[in-house]
Amino acid sequence: MEYISTRGSAPALDFEGVTLAGLASDGGLYLPREWPRLSNADIRELRGLSYHQLAARIMRPFIGTSLSDDELEEMCADVYGDFGHAAVTPLVQLNETHWLLELFHGPTLAFKDVALQMLGRLFETFLARRDQKMMIVGATSGDTGSAAINAVAGRDNVEIVMLHPKGRVSDVQRRQMTTVRSANVFNLAIDGSFDDAQAHVKRMFRDDDVTSILKLGAVNSINWARLLAQVVYYFYSALQLGAPDRKIAYSVPTGNFGDVFAGYVAAQMGLPIERLIVATNVNDILHRALSDGDYSAAGVTATITPSMDIQVSSNFERLLFDCGERDGTALGDQMREFEKSKAMQLTNAQREGASSLFVSMRADQDETSRALAWAYGAAGQVIDPHTGVGLHASIAASEADLIARDVPIVTLATAHPAKFRDAVERAVGVRPSLPARVGDLFGREEHFAEVSGDYEATRDFVLENATR
Ligand SMILES: *Cc1c(COP(=O)(O)O)cnc(C)c1O
Repeated sequence: MEYISTRGSAPALDFEGVTLAGLASDGGLYLPREWPRLSNADIRELRGLSYHQLAARIMRPFIGTSLSDDELEEMCADVYGDFGHAAVTPLVQLNETHWLLELFHGPTLAFKDVALQMLGRLFETFLARRDQKMMIVGATSGDTGSAAINAVAGRDNVEIVMLHPKGRVSDVQRRQMTTVRSANVFNLAIDGSFDDAQAHVKRMFRDDDVTSILKLGAVNSINWARLLAQVVYYFYSALQLGAPDRKIAYSVPTGNFGDVFAGYVAAQMGLPIERLIVATNVNDILHRALSDGDYSAAGVTATITPSMDIQVSSNFERLLFDCGERDGTALGDQMREFEKSKAMQLTNAQREGASSLFVSMRADQDETSRALAWAYGAAGQVIDPHTGVGLHASIAASEADLIARDVPIVTLATAHPAKFRDAVERAVGVRPSLPARVGDLFGREEHFAEVSGDYEATRDFVLENATR
């Protein structure tokens, strides 16, 4: 399988190459040259497989010769054998129409573990093969940082420095990062905001004094391998609800458009998905783009769903490419224009392509809290606010008759409610407790360094601590 860039001028790479590269050298994102297709008969044959067996089957055609069948199967069994639920991503029924797909049974209680645990294994395998080392540098305002740290802790050939803005992440989120004790993990609290931390990271990737010495790596969701691992749970849940002989709709709490794009990939492969509902909070650039073609960045408003507080959604570029006749040269021009002016109109082809599968819904804080209260009152389920945005969108889409009556609607439950327990307690009056396997989080010792807000302080920390 060959991968090409959405901006048309970076070299084509194999799966190993795109996993280690992250972003393409022309600034674009990698996508497979064509979608592997499964017939209904192929999909029926997948019924009854365990999660890790299914993962190996779904990922197989995308990986080509980068891993042997045995390597891939062993990796999937190891990674998904460690989750806190035997089904890895269990389905929970709310009523005759609505279901939750619980994606938070990994080590840091958010869906990002499903993909990042796999990515950690892939990095280790591919780097060992090339006899290379990699330093991952990232900035986090919450979930990505802890999931990435837990994915690479203790692995060979890969190290991680994770920056967080001092005093500006929740206690649970900080402790999920700083209590991981491993020689290849470095936490750095910087004086400044999340945007300052993010700016340092971006600058470091362009700093020759660093890149001439270290191979830097990134773990954000522009990495194709992350999206690929997320395709699996769409198949897993749809098979349980009767696919391919029945259509399923999904509602996806969306920020960077990674999770919902994985649903689009599943549909391109032949999974009968009726609709993908893009659920956003008040930071609604995607809702505006999908409802009237206006893709323009606005300032970010802080909400009770911080993992969806985004200005732009990087992975949206992948959809624009696939719906816009895959013309990388034209899309490169369009995206460069957007980067300058922070605004663009979708072309007719992009709008029509997107509207055949996607609808969008937006939830403000009241609507989100009401969805939490509904889940608790009607089905006895305590859900997190991100999941609440998704559930609001599911109910609204169903009431607006955007989804046929007999189609089950699955809301992706992207985080465990205990991760956001203050907001949950305010909405439903119940304070969710952390699951037993992370229960001693507040008893463990924290390890992190503190530096000033200057870029140089962060850069020197990375250079001093990296193994070469
Ligand atoms: C990251 C995250 C999201 C958004 O996912 P994207 O792939 O960026 O769209 C939603 N909910 C939670 C809890 C997250 O951590």
